[in-house]
Amino acid sequence: MAGANDDLTGGMAARAQALMPEVTRDLADLVRCASVSLPGHPEAPVRAAAERTLALLKKYGLSSARFMEIPGGYPAVYAEIPAPPGAPTVLLYAHYDVQPAKPEDGWATDPFVPVEKDSRLFGRGTADDKSGILIIAAALSLFSGHPPVGVKVVIEGEEETESHLDAYVAAHPGIFSCDAFVILDNGNLAVRQPALTTTLRGVVSCTVDVSTLDHPVHSGMFGGAAPDALVALIAILSTLHDPSGRVAVRGLAVSAQPESEYPEALYREGAGILPGTALTGTGPLGARLWSEPSVSVIGIDAASVAGSANILIPRARAKVSLRIAPDADPARELSLLMAHLRSAAPWGAKVEVTETGRSAGFVCPAGHPATAAAKAALAAAFHCPVREKGSGGSIPLLALLHAAAPEAGFVLIGAEDTACSRIHGTNESVDLGEVERCITGLALFFEGFSRRPQ
Ligand SMILES: [Zn+2]
Repeated sequence: MAGANDDLTGGMAARAQALMPEVTRDLADLVRCASVSLPGHPEAPVRAAAERTLALLKKYGLSSARFMEIPGGYPAVYAEIPAPPGAPTVLLYAHYDVQPAKPEDGWATDPFVPVEKDSRLFGRGTADDKSGILIIAAALSLFSGHPPVGVKVVIEGEEETESHLDAYVAAHPGIFSCDAFVILDNGNLAVRQPALTTTLRGVVSCTVDVSTLDHPVHSGMFGGAAPDALVALIAILSTLHDPSGRVAVRGLAVSAQPESEYPEALYREGAGILPGTALTGTGPLGARLWSEPSVSVIGIDAASVAGSANILIPRARAKVSLRIAPDADPARELSLLMAHLRSAAPWGAKVEVTETGRSAGFVCPAGHPATAAAKAALAAAFHCPVREKGSGGSIPLLALLHAAAPEAGFVLIGAEDTACSRIHGTNESVDLGEVERCITGLALFFEGFSRRPQ
């Protein structure tokens, strides 16, 4: 049996390798569309990316590819291949929209002119998530239109912004029914180290408005006893962490730790932590990032340094974002955070705390045959054992997909390696070898999952 499996792996790997020049060209073409879906960015490049994704799926053999109109938003691209008798159906997801990218933020090259260097392709969206589109298309093309499983492909155009797909899934669950979801919008901690993402943290946020004075006053005439709103806000925000940098909001939930640990050197490199700067918090890094809460201040409205004057500031405002444990209840965590912020106000300062968002984390159903099949497939494609890890980020869509197909498994994989891909950051890139291994791995997953135990 091992011999037969080796032949299958070798055959898939050779065919994936042969496809790579074409895959690289097509990925680069897709990256040239500056498909930023966020409000205020032009629509034309997003629509061009949708057209190009549609043409690409057809070119790789998905003749049924068509636009799926999403009310209020950019269209998704949808394709379907019915399951052979008795075989399961797999729904494959990726997205064609991207985060904004401004050259002046420190890009070495134009973010929308892809450049290949040291077997990596650089450009906005090379990894997140246009690589996912190519992995899906190329893996399916290895079966010449007849994969051993039924296939539904959904390529979204609004993952990076307020997505209208979520409501669409809730309204049309039948379209999304399947036996396993494969979400190609993830990656390994480092290239050649295959991992399955099995948990994702959620996120909640609120604003804190602090008022202390009726109007700005001269800091020389009144400073010394009149409380300054910005100083009060800083005092409140400083209570979010203990001296080690651990979250100090009491009562927040903590989930079970994933089996992987995050190597510190890799983490430091990926995060770009400056030499001499310590890490915050305590305990295993994997737990701090994947199963415990983390809190940060993501914006402050107050006087700017350039416009500063010698006055006491009457009002100041901050936005606080709290990543929550994968299985935590967002409503509960948000109310703990909001109560903490209110109670931390010094000097009787007037504090208004307002919710701005909440989204649950996700825990992939454990013990599903899809997980076992994905582990075996990735191990064969990467020649390396596969571990389970968490993700610090969240994908709100997963909970809706889970509701649409409660029995389906979840496989979260992709070529967005944490160490070097810099998704959402400057100089985003994807390792083309990792793309190739993911294509092989996904093709082997189709084979393995088609023979799943019933
Ligand atoms: Zn993404």
